[in-house]
Amino acid sequence: GLVYLNGEWLAPEEAKVSVFDRGFLFADGIYEVIPVYQGRPFLVEHHLARLHRSLAAINIPDQPEGFWQDLTNQLITRNQVTDGLIYFQVTRGAETKRSHLPQTVLTPTVFANVSPLQLHWDTPAPANVVLYEDIRWLRCDIKSISLLGNIMLKQFAEQRGAIEPLLHRDGSITEGASSNYFAVKDGVLYTAPADHLILPGITRMWVLQLAAQLNLPVREEAFTIRELAQLDELFLTSSSREIQPIAKIDDIIIGNGRCGPLTQKLVEAFHESKRAHLA
Ligand code: PLP
Repeated sequence: GLVYLNGEWLAPEEAKVSVFDRGFLFADGIYEVIPVYQGRPFLVEHHLARLHRSLAAINIPDQPEGFWQDLTNQLITRNQVTDGLIYFQVTRGAETKRSHLPQTVLTPTVFANVSPLQLHWDTPAPANVVLYEDIRWLRCDIKSISLLGNIMLKQFAEQRGAIEPLLHRDGSITEGASSNYFAVKDGVLYTAPADHLILPGITRMWVLQLAAQLNLPVREEAFTIRELAQLDELFLTSSSREIQPIAKIDDIIIGNGRCGPLTQKLVEAFHESKRAHLA
């Protein structure tokens, strides 16, 4: 498919960025990922709102009104996307003197492409995660392209046969390397609050809305390491995985290792909301 780079539509191997780009030299940029179902972007206003917030947080000038919505539509139509994941990346731009603070007024580098997405219409088999210290910085709310901490944590999880790390800071669970977590205890749904320690996942937000519609009691309160062994259910959320039940944290089996009833309810509500989106 065609990729977008600074106003041009190019074959992927034709898209080239300067070695002086601040994304390359400093990871000075942000990104966004938007799922597309049957040619329609899902929860796009929420994803674009987060993109605007990420840009504002690191003082990269935003694009003109309507730019991102238009680019979203063009990516889908030019690539005839049915199900896919849109990727947007904006860096502060390029200048030939390497300097932490830019020495001139820069034009941001804007890149966008689409990759294939496997849609879920059943309940995924429960997967394993591993508990690990959250070694990342204190502005995890910004969707920064600086992902070294996330990559190291993901490698650690993979080496232990897990799909994700379950990260903790000061005894509390924060999130995953590329996902948010929800725990169920005594019929109540818990998830870490959307503060500086987590990325406010759009899937997280959507699951909170679905839970409210189902009248499930929800607390945006972090659950703790001490409580892990007593959890009834655990699942993670992300745009690509949607709702993924968790069977095991290290050697702790959650529930009986199967998808719990509340998780199942939310998976079904999520599928229903996708069908409504497609209708
Ligand atoms: N947390 C982190 C650190 C992420 O990188 C991601 C997405 O990749 C998420 C959470 C989930 O966010 P979303 O539901 O918007 O995909």
